[in-house]
Amino acid sequence: MAIALSSAALSGKGTINPLTRVLHFDHNCYYSSTPKLKPIFSLSLKRPRFSSRAAATMSYDKELAAAKKACSLAARLCQKVQKALLQSDVHAKSDKSPVTVADYGSQAVVSFVLQKELSSSPFSLVAEEDSGDLRKEDGQETLQRITKLVNETLANGGTASPLSDQDVLAAIDSGKSEGGSLGQHWVLDPIDGTKGFLRGDQYAIALGLLDEGKVVLGVLACPNLPLQSLACHDQHTIQGKAGCLFFAQVGTGTYMQSLDGSEPRKVNVSSTENPEEASFFESYEAAHSMHDLTSLIAKKLGVKAPPVRIDSQAKYGALSRGDGAIYMRFPHRGYREKIWDHAAGSVVVTEAGGVVTDAAGKPLDFSRGRYLDLDTGIIVTNQKLMPTLLNAVQESLKEKASSL
Ligand code: AMP
Ligand code: MG
Repeated sequence: MAIALSSAALSGKGTINPLTRVLHFDHNCYYSSTPKLKPIFSLSLKRPRFSSRAAATMSYDKELAAAKKACSLAARLCQKVQKALLQSDVHAKSDKSPVTVADYGSQAVVSFVLQKELSSSPFSLVAEEDSGDLRKEDGQETLQRITKLVNETLANGGTASPLSDQDVLAAIDSGKSEGGSLGQHWVLDPIDGTKGFLRGDQYAIALGLLDEGKVVLGVLACPNLPLQSLACHDQHTIQGKAGCLFFAQVGTGTYMQSLDGSEPRKVNVSSTENPEEASFFESYEAAHSMHDLTSLIAKKLGVKAPPVRIDSQAKYGALSRGDGAIYMRFPHRGYREKIWDHAAGSVVVTEAGGVVTDAAGKPLDFSRGRYLDLDTGIIVTNQKLMPTLLNAVQESLKEKASSL
């Protein structure tokens, strides 16, 4: 499979960082917006503060196991649909229905598996899709296709008892939660990067868990992401075995395994301090992020490598294992970021020793419902590079504003 990769030689390969645990505790740093950009305070807590349940046990092992199972099964469903899509004729590729079937099917599988595996816990899911269109008369054929696909996927994954159309609709509709700062909420993007999915490129099944408004675990299934670092690939083509599962639980680091179940290995963000050695990720779609602005920032930083443009939260996964050192996202004016586009990715990166902030240096706040209210854009890098990156971002934003 070939994917668009615009960098010839990516620098900033991952190295093991022995400070991961310390770095984790520093995730509550707030960076000042002054040019010096030193952390202006750091919470003195050894670990982030969570609900009483979390404080008592600090373990989400059961939830993580369920989330990994749910995302792996959903990834199988999506792979099946994408394979059929790519084998079909060119005409069918402009048809949005494969993505509809895979989107709903993935959401139904994740919702069903989580509820089954965690049947003793209350269930709340914030997810992108709702079943409105599938309940209409002209949605019946699609619904039947989805139910068939969901049942095949669950049966292959060893889950018995076929679901009816009504069960599938109910599973999809349990994603209507508004989230918020109280209790636990799962946050799901059933197919993040639908444009990439349709092109045959990168996409991800992204699942996070909020506890009292904080992301406490995240799983990213990236069926088309090579197991080998993107930094090892030649220009324009990515070859070799693909299919990565990234997972992170707060306080325990980030791990990656193959989607077909290899032994997990711990991953760390790039430790490069030198922006000239850093390569950066951004959206493939220019409509999702201002490529002219990121190019200005990269120039200011002295980044030499061209941008690596890939779809979806696969960018967070690749960054967490050090394939590149920076991820920048600057949506066009008026766009509101949704929590499911960043929840899983952000914990995967922070547990690997990275920092995720908005363009003002503030941490992302997942406690305010389905949207993130943030300043201008999202930037991600390692602890050492963040002050320099933030400085370049703010200078570039000022320059852009004054040139308008
Ligand atoms: P990416 O592949 O990183 O560009 O991100 C894909 C995600 O971007 C999708 O899941 C959408 O939720 C989100 N998205 C859709 N439209 C826009 C937009 N106009 N600006 C920014 N993000 C968008
Ligand atoms: Mg998305």
